Amino acid sequence: MSTSPRFDRIALIGFGLIGGSIARAARQQGLAKEIVTTARSAKTRERVMKLGVVDRVVETNVEAVQGADLVILCIPVGACGPVAAEIADHLKPGAIVSDVGSVKASVVKDMAPHLPATVHFVPAHPVAGTEHSGPDSGFAELFINRWCILTPPEGTDAKATEKLRAFWAALGAKVEVMTPEHHDLVLAITSHLPHLIAYTIVGTAEEFSNVSRSEVLKFSAGGFRDFTRIAASDPTMWRDVFLHNKDAVLEMLSQFSADLGKLTRAMQDGDGDALFEHFTRTRAIRRGIVSIGQDSAAPDFGRPHPAKALAPLARPYAADSE
Ligand code: NAP
Repeated sequence: MSTSPRFDRIALIGFGLIGGSIARAARQQGLAKEIVTTARSAKTRERVMKLGVVDRVVETNVEAVQGADLVILCIPVGACGPVAAEIADHLKPGAIVSDVGSVKASVVKDMAPHLPATVHFVPAHPVAGTEHSGPDSGFAELFINRWCILTPPEGTDAKATEKLRAFWAALGAKVEVMTPEHHDLVLAITSHLPHLIAYTIVGTAEEFSNVSRSEVLKFSAGGFRDFTRIAASDPTMWRDVFLHNKDAVLEMLSQFSADLGKLTRAMQDGDGDALFEHFTRTRAIRRGIVSIGQDSAAPDFGRPHPAKALAPLARPYAADSE
């Protein structure tokens, strides 16, 4: 019999893009009898109450986790260790404790020592996002057809991992399991290094005094516009990503610098064949991404909203049928 994705009580610590999207999608899919949330600031908590997308908004992390079967930390990576220490003594025995951090090895290292043996720790990273943040930015369709990577530490109860897999699948995600270290290496090249490059190039354009700021904005319909979108991503989140996945990003950065050196030399030498061969190879990579459905071949402006809402699960909330 397949594992039920449903929980009696889900606690979301942090309610921004990711926490807010989980809440909306889980409610739409009927995955919890009750969704409880909290956020660091009174301002966010008040806003969440007004949004009306969860059952209860509480003031503290400790209150939020009490009696919860699934606890998900939806906060910056650097805050996960201290919050794990704070909630550890208040977790319900048998609960699944997870997170959504974009870096995994450091989150495991920071959280695991605090958690009691009576709970199941299954870290997760939904590889889905936008450049927006805060309680209003979430939407129920965010995870549809996106990957969610689970990185359970060795010895984690397989049933708990399977339950969390079923939960993310019910939110619309495709789920894969890997080690935290492998996750960090893969994401360093597919996400972290591209963000570092975007942050760099947008900063360089800003400082480039021969081109006025208005010209940068006016002619940004070229490749630069895509970089500005990425470089608008949340500064706190990305500061933490680079501090916590430093080794893997630096390794990729060193390979990137070597490759940039090769292209620079090809330009200096007027070696058109080398440039053409390189661009042909990268074009094939892009076509491969489109062909496996990770992106659309349409231009990225004026596209229809890519995610269609999932129909709610046929069966409303019922006791687990595992
Ligand atoms: P967000 O929209 O900025 O929301 C962050 C939430 O965390 C807010 O509720 C904030 O509370 C709370 N928070 C911030 N600092 C905190 C601290 N020191 N202690 C406790 N709570 C704190 O961020 P997000 O985009 O949802 O990102 C949350 C996590 O998801 C991060 O770990 C990130 O790596 C991961 N992630 C993000 C994306 C993405 O594209 N954004 C994709 C996948 C995974 P206040 O509002 O009260 O300040």
